Amino acid sequence: MTNYRHVLSKSRYVSGLQCEKKFWIEKNQKDLVPLVSAADQARFDAGHDIGALAQQRFPGGKDATPEEFYNWGPSYEKTKQWIEEGESVIYEAAFFHEGCMAALDIFLKVGDEIHAIEVKSSTKVKPYHLTDSSYQYHIMKSAGYEPDRFFLMHINNQYERNGELDLEQLFTLSDITEEVLELQEGIEDRIENLKLVLQQPERPEVQIGQHCGDPFDCSLKYMCWKDVPNPNVLSIPYLKDKWALFFEGKQRFEDLEESMISPSARPLWRGVVHGESILKTEKLKAFLDTLEYPLYFFDFETIAPVVPLYDGTRPYQAIPVQYSVQVVMGDGVDPYEYNFLASFGNGELPYEELLHAMLKDLGTSGTILAYNQGFEKGKIKLLGSLFPEHKEACDKLLARFNDLIIPFKQKAWYNPDMMGSASIKQVFPSVCPDDDGYSALDIAEGGTASKELLALAQGTVPKDEVEALREKLLAYCEMDTWAMVRIWEEMGKVAN
Ligand code: SF4
Repeated sequence: MTNYRHVLSKSRYVSGLQCEKKFWIEKNQKDLVPLVSAADQARFDAGHDIGALAQQRFPGGKDATPEEFYNWGPSYEKTKQWIEEGESVIYEAAFFHEGCMAALDIFLKVGDEIHAIEVKSSTKVKPYHLTDSSYQYHIMKSAGYEPDRFFLMHINNQYERNGELDLEQLFTLSDITEEVLELQEGIEDRIENLKLVLQQPERPEVQIGQHCGDPFDCSLKYMCWKDVPNPNVLSIPYLKDKWALFFEGKQRFEDLEESMISPSARPLWRGVVHGESILKTEKLKAFLDTLEYPLYFFDFETIAPVVPLYDGTRPYQAIPVQYSVQVVMGDGVDPYEYNFLASFGNGELPYEELLHAMLKDLGTSGTILAYNQGFEKGKIKLLGSLFPEHKEACDKLLARFNDLIIPFKQKAWYNPDMMGSASIKQVFPSVCPDDDGYSALDIAEGGTASKELLALAQGTVPKDEVEALREKLLAYCEMDTWAMVRIWEEMGKVAN
């Protein structure tokens, strides 16, 4: 009976080329590897869903996916048998050669040619895709099934859905045969080297470096980077040769001269080294004077489905489906909130219901304040073009916008704990340190909110959980606008 025990797969090969220490630990000291984060799991799940859809692009194939997790033997044998029987489409076609396995997303027989297809949920070919495809190619060739052409099938972000999904348009087939062939040089040595690494009794010592984040952020940083100062020079924007400085031992902000720091990064540097804050009250006052009551603190939440859910939308298009607005009628008056969360009842793009609610809630006069207004304004402009009868009303809203981020971008107000950032997640806890803020919420950051909103839009949330989830999402969105109100209030105090 053939021994199909494998020590190397596509993902392990990519991992090994990124870092031999990481590669060794993932095999021999698994307990040191943190559990997969929710964000990474969501990414894997999305990739899996895309893979299933990609198979429909080439329907009628045989599926060699193993029935038992990790038992690939039957898959190798089925693949071999089906190829020999002349099957023209095989999903998860599996190949084995000298302890190395490769599971190809889609195997095609086109006339006499073998076409290999790897499926990715990205919108373009990335360098590591070529690395993993070159490995797939090598194992297929070594197993006796050399591809004549190798394709990467990725998402076409120019595709606009209209009616049924058009899989030919949704996916782009990029021919990467040439690049994959170029990467064959030295591949046997690389594979043999990785096999030897695994056999080493001690884990290899590898110095930290840029490879720790390329192509993936390494989950073992908690271990290898534990003695690196925080903050360190790597986080200084526009700093020249930062890695060279880092390896020279100039790792702390204090190790650099101020003249080495670009003007825009100096507030960050001075904040860390000298604890220096910036407060330009005249600038803050001038900004506040541009605002007119009633004030509307406004924020959208979005979904960005890989596969367009609605007609007229494209892959990864950010679609606003929720908003919160806090209204402050005048000096010393408490804010009140309006909110909107699409009903997702009819499976249609919720723009019309959102537009009607928004036109009512944002009134007809007073300043609309967003935090980094580009997105909100862009979407309102889009709504105006989609619903020409409301274009004038949308244009009037656009004319009332102002941006609460401006004083922070201009460094009219800067505290060292903002760490050079003007983002609301950094500014809010800095200027309102006593507010409980996001930490008290069930949904505390935008990525989770977006994921949960998408689940609502797709109708995958169990019915008895929908109401509770909607409440959590409303609370999260409300916190964003509440944070804006609090920042504005504090700005008023320090400016006067
Ligand atoms: S953190 Fe860097 S050095 Fe450490 S295992 Fe990961 S990639 Fe290797």
